[in-house]
Amino acid sequence: MIDIGANLANKAFRGDLEAVLRRARLAGVTTIVATGTSESVSRAALEIARDNGASADGPRVFATAGIHPHHAKDFSRGSLDTLRTLAGSPEVRAIGECGLDFDRNFSPRDAQLRCFEAQLELAADLGMPVFLHERAAEDDFSAVLARFRPRLTRAVVHCFTGSAETLARYLDLDLHIGITGWICDERRGTHLVDLVRRIPRDRIMIETDAPYILPRSMPRAERPRTGRNEPCFLRWVLEAVAKARNESETEFERATVATTKAFFDLPADDVKPH
Ligand SMILES: [Zn+2]
Repeated sequence: MIDIGANLANKAFRGDLEAVLRRARLAGVTTIVATGTSESVSRAALEIARDNGASADGPRVFATAGIHPHHAKDFSRGSLDTLRTLAGSPEVRAIGECGLDFDRNFSPRDAQLRCFEAQLELAADLGMPVFLHERAAEDDFSAVLARFRPRLTRAVVHCFTGSAETLARYLDLDLHIGITGWICDERRGTHLVDLVRRIPRDRIMIETDAPYILPRSMPRAERPRTGRNEPCFLRWVLEAVAKARNESETEFERATVATTKAFFDLPADDVKPH
């Protein structure tokens, strides 16, 4: 399996990242794309990707470089130079996470829009895919993307939690859709069980968004007491999505791995080069 979104540079993993990576590999996660959410976190995600290239018993780690809408207020011309430099490393496979979050509005909306557009411009310029975040902002988000889409290679809306209408809009924009353990949440994610069936096979990918969104379908005894999610729990997402799509886990896993490799332009084989 491939986890397309794990916040490995989050402080929640500072103490035991190696063990977390080892557990992920043992659980069948062969590759992780570590999410960059600010200049410093993107730098840290790249470091993790580089370091992990040297360890034989972990999954392969790649990274994204971007600025989350929450941090848009700190965005400057200099940030864009940093992202451009980071994106020059072969471990960095996408620009993001970037987008709009009008749910929490940790940054003013105009700052979010500026920061989002600048990163789409960068991705278009570099010919790189984008890793997108959207919360309570589907109208503005779609409008911005509609303008940039012809110049973007590939784009994924990560942690999709929206409505049927929003999904249809995103598929019309030829976006890929990332599904997290939100689908395993009986309080707020049940609508996704129906929606994931509508996503074409070559457009759906899975992610943990660790350390967030621990799958609630996990038996209580298996859930970590801290509530911290880890890439090793990706199987719960895969299981829920496969079941919802009425596909076998093996069949869905094979398809989504192929989709993910094509999206991030990952090496075809899962063996580390050494
Ligand atoms: Zn996000």
